[in-house]
Amino acid sequence: VSRFEGISMAPPDPTIGVSEAFRASTNERKLDLAVRAYRTEELQPYLLNVVKKAEMLMLERGEHREYLPIEGLAAFNKVTVELLFGVDNPVIKQQRVATVQSISGTGSLRLAAELIERYFPGVKVLMSSPSWSNHKDIFNDARVPWSEYRYYDPKTVGLDFEGMIADIKAAPEGSFVLLQGCAHNPTGIDPTPEQWEKIADVVQEKNHIPFFDVAYQGFASGNLDADASSVRLFAARGMELMVAQSYSKNLGLYAERIGAINVVCSSADAVARVKSQLQRLARPMYSNPPVHGAKIVTNVVGDPDLFNEWRKEMEMMAKRIKSMRRKLYDSLTVKDKSGKDCGDLLDEEYSLPS
Ligand code: PMP
Repeated sequence: VSRFEGISMAPPDPTIGVSEAFRASTNERKLDLAVRAYRTEELQPYLLNVVKKAEMLMLERGEHREYLPIEGLAAFNKVTVELLFGVDNPVIKQQRVATVQSISGTGSLRLAAELIERYFPGVKVLMSSPSWSNHKDIFNDARVPWSEYRYYDPKTVGLDFEGMIADIKAAPEGSFVLLQGCAHNPTGIDPTPEQWEKIADVVQEKNHIPFFDVAYQGFASGNLDADASSVRLFAARGMELMVAQSYSKNLGLYAERIGAINVVCSSADAVARVKSQLQRLARPMYSNPPVHGAKIVTNVVGDPDLFNEWRKEMEMMAKRIKSMRRKLYDSLTVKDKSGKDCGDLLDEEYSLPS
């Protein structure tokens, strides 16, 4: 008998379950709407040209594979924080951001969760209902209490803005408010600029700490600055905040596990302390982050030519995603001559997990 007898089967990840059901289905007209990565017209993974070029440069230079410092590659952290806030942002000029390279968006969220658990005991994280399914697990495993604010309104298939504001207002003062910077997963619904202002008003009024998850900068609109405007709006109000960043989607670096956690503080002094604690937390978890993706990002984002090329490639991807969605919507809403819906593209045998 196994010593591991007491371990029961873990439930499958809900999003991965959709992909598995897709593979299992024999329906010829099946469409996998759960793919967690950008695919080409031929359903193939897409390696960005700028990534290939950056890797070529790295090979030419014969870059080593020694350990990075715990906080990651300094040049990576610099371009990353600049990409998020914009080079001329006062928070950067005043050295008010603690940036630590981490294991993509997920690892960055987890690192921040560990910081909350240790230094804000009992403080809740508020997240949208629904949110990316891993958010709950990340905070559960880090033993951080959380609750939800209303977000998706099935009646309007839009944002329940009143509900969202009311719930953020009703939360205990000084809570963390998890916000997705753009391209909200899983609803695809983002607040308008006016709504973001009002969200910032209540967050500020209640002394909450905004905690942004930015996993799709550039992917929502095709424009890096536009997609960071929510975060920049909060920063411009002088608020302290946290941002988890990922390069999985916008540079197609999924498996490189490259991203960062940024903590905007009110003083450079606090930045030094926060950064030291993030490193203290990272060290026993994974010691130091991977170098390859960090160098790819640094070469692309830090080089004016490659950066421009990246922007074009990203715009292409964002546009194509939009047109694919449009086509899907149109084919689902096509009516036959009798007026009956003939957009029966969704597999009847399979319903989405709740
Ligand atoms: N946040 C959101 C909202 C996401 O959708 C994802 C990826 N699906 C992530 C974070 C994290 O992705 P990664 O760990 O690959 O950066």
